[in-house]
Amino acid sequence: STMNIALIAHNGKKDQIVALATEFAPLLKQHTLMATGTTGGRLQNEVGLDVERLLSGPLGGDLQIGARLSTGLVDLVVFLRDPMTSQPHEPDINALVRACDVHDVPCATNVATARVLLGAYLFGGVPMLQFHLQGAGVSVPSPFLTMMPYVATVVVLALLSRNPPWILANMPSSICKPSSHG
Ligand code: PGA
Repeated sequence: STMNIALIAHNGKKDQIVALATEFAPLLKQHTLMATGTTGGRLQNEVGLDVERLLSGPLGGDLQIGARLSTGLVDLVVFLRDPMTSQPHEPDINALVRACDVHDVPCATNVATARVLLGAYLFGGVPMLQFHLQGAGVSVPSPFLTMMPYVATVVVLALLSRNPPWILANMPSSICKPSSHG
C-alpha cells in the first residue's frame, strides 16, 4: 500500500521543497521516495528522509524518473520548477511533465498544488486504515473512521484556541507582532 513518490526541485525552489518535505515528513516516511541528485541529498541531510538519489536533473535525473513513471513505477510527482530561470535541460523537464500527462500520474509543479495533493493523501489514508484494521480482524464502524480526520482537526483546533503554554513556548517570536512591511 505504499506509494512511490518522486521529488524534484530546481535550485531556486530547493528551500521550498525542504520546507514542504519537513511539513509532510510523517506522511512521506510511510512511502518509497526517489529524487534527483541534489534535491535528494538535501532531503536526506536536512529532513532525514530515506530517499533514493538518482542523477542530478541536468545530467538526466528527470529522464530516469520519467522512464520509471512510464512503466508504472512512480505514483506521484512533486516537481517544483523554477519558472523564472531558464534550465539547460528544458527538454527533459517537458518530457517528464508530458509523461505524467500520458500516464495520468498526479504531478504538482508548485507548492500550493503539492500541499493539496499531499493533504489529500492524509485524508485518503482513512480507507486504507479501515482496510488494514479489517485485515487484522478489528471491525470499526465506517462512519467513525470517516469522522476521524475531522475529529482530529477539531481536537487540535480546540487545543490551540486555549493558547497552551507549550505552544506559546515553541512559537516563532514574530507571530502576532505587527509586520514590518509597508
Ligand atoms: P537536482 O536536479 O536535484 O540534482 O538539482 C533538479 C534540477 O535542477 O533539475
